Amino acid sequence: MRSCTAVAIIIFLFLFLPPAQILNAQSNLDSTTFQNYEKISKQIVTSALKERKGYDILKNLCRIGPRLSGSRNSLIAINWAKFKMKELGFDSVWLQSVMVPHWERGEVEEVVILDVKTKAEKKLNVLSLGGSIGTPVEGITANVLEVKSFEELKNRKDEAIGKIIFFSRPIDQSMKNTFSAYGEAADQRVYGAIEAAKVGAIGVIVRSLTTKFDNIPHTGMMKYEEKVKQIPAVAIGYLDADYLSQILEDDPELKVRMKLDCKTLPDEQSFNVIGEIRGIKFPDEIIVVGGHFDSWDVGDGAHDDGVGCIQAIEVLDLFKRLSIKPKRTIRAVLFINEENGSKGGLEYGKFADISKQIHYAAIESDRGAFTPIGFYLDTDSTELIDRVRSWLPFLNYSRINWIKKGGSGVDVSKIKNVKLKIGYYPDDQRYFDFHHSPADVFEAVHPREFELGSAAMAILTFLLSEEGL
Ligand SMILES: [Zn+2]
Repeated sequence: MRSCTAVAIIIFLFLFLPPAQILNAQSNLDSTTFQNYEKISKQIVTSALKERKGYDILKNLCRIGPRLSGSRNSLIAINWAKFKMKELGFDSVWLQSVMVPHWERGEVEEVVILDVKTKAEKKLNVLSLGGSIGTPVEGITANVLEVKSFEELKNRKDEAIGKIIFFSRPIDQSMKNTFSAYGEAADQRVYGAIEAAKVGAIGVIVRSLTTKFDNIPHTGMMKYEEKVKQIPAVAIGYLDADYLSQILEDDPELKVRMKLDCKTLPDEQSFNVIGEIRGIKFPDEIIVVGGHFDSWDVGDGAHDDGVGCIQAIEVLDLFKRLSIKPKRTIRAVLFINEENGSKGGLEYGKFADISKQIHYAAIESDRGAFTPIGFYLDTDSTELIDRVRSWLPFLNYSRINWIKKGGSGVDVSKIKNVKLKIGYYPDDQRYFDFHHSPADVFEAVHPREFELGSAAMAILTFLLSEEGL
């Protein structure tokens, strides 16, 4: 009986009320507010897509080149970003100083297959891994042992002594979520040199973590462990990894020579770049929008993560362009050093801990600029998730179609003192084609996908600021 009544009410609602009012019931907003939020959400999307202002700013950032922590380029970019935020008229702009690691790739970087009989050399496409030590000037020359996992390496440890270990397990292409697939294969890159050194190997070659079948090598962070010998490590292009694997089958005795002159220098002074628009009603309640400003030292650091930083800047600029006066303070934070230390995120987290201001919410964009699909909320509160989910009618205008429990981002996760941490999630199918590689350039970013991302973050920021949690 009860369910019959419920069905009758639902039929009545659909037949006799306009769609806006039905959704009102779902989001607990009166119809005037609902219509106002609809209007503003549409304006945000239209302005982002039509004016492409963030995309234009991204082009200028990418012209500076890559922004590895501690590099001269990173400091040029930091000053550029500070100036840009001032030019856009944010209420306050400042730099937050922090010490960061400083690693340099150097000039020489080669891995060649040696044909002992003919003396011919075949050069492979490689990039040193971030943090790797170099080799002696003459390089290291050794036989190669190919393995697919640390377990296989342990089982074959007697064969590993004095060799270069080739970790060749690719990203599992059958997985739908590319971040999970990347995460499953990344142990080889991050810990490969430690595991190889433990069994007496002298160098490491890792198949690039990519979703594309090309020959562009993808770098990234690797680690050493105290008391374990440090050995040099490179990433190799996917096609060259296939090639090396194939010729090793024909000739397990072949030798390669690895020559690298990368090195770690003393830590350098660097900065997070911060700009904000003050809230008119609750100025001490802060909503952070951010990305990481450092990148690897190849390509332009466009998708990773120039786009996240410029989307954060564009969120504030969209408020200004549309004359939206936020109730709460909206703060763009460009975190330095996410790639190889997270010192910027840690420093901001420390500041948030002691600040008298209330960190209300923090949104991070660090999954590239592709078509928006969702937001992950880092919380156990189903109430909070339901609340943000009730805003989907507005977020839909930017193509956001889900809100789920999940991880936020490396940098905002360092802020302990915040009510809700949020991760922006665009379509992830092509991100790892570009990630940490020379292919991550401005031209790889599509303006519509990028701008819809800015709009998605701006709509969510607007609702957080207006409605609270
Ligand atoms: Zn990133």
